[in-house]
Amino acid sequence: MGRRQTMMEKYKQQMKAYRKKRMKLDNTPFLPPDGNVYVMDSLDPTKKIKVEVLKKRTKQHRDIVESLACPVCGSAMEWNRAWEAFICVKHGKKAIYEIVNEG
Ligand SMILES: [Zn+2]
Repeated sequence: MGRRQTMMEKYKQQMKAYRKKRMKLDNTPFLPPDGNVYVMDSLDPTKKIKVEVLKKRTKQHRDIVESLACPVCGSAMEWNRAWEAFICVKHGKKAIYEIVNEG
């Protein structure tokens, strides 16, 4: 057995682990239970577009959406953490698609 940790050492270790966890935190959206994903073009928020899910992954027993097909050109779009949206740069102007709830 090693030496006993002081409270301070313990605290520092916990903070380190906490920061590491926070950095890894991802806000990738969950796949709705019915599997249908709708997005909204940030330039035209009145339109709701159904898109195809290209890639998903399971996290904590729920499916999360990793990649969507661009509703305009069909290219695979990856989740952008900073924008909290899927972004396509393959067809002309950069398009930003936010996931919207059905209904
Ligand atoms: Zn596109």
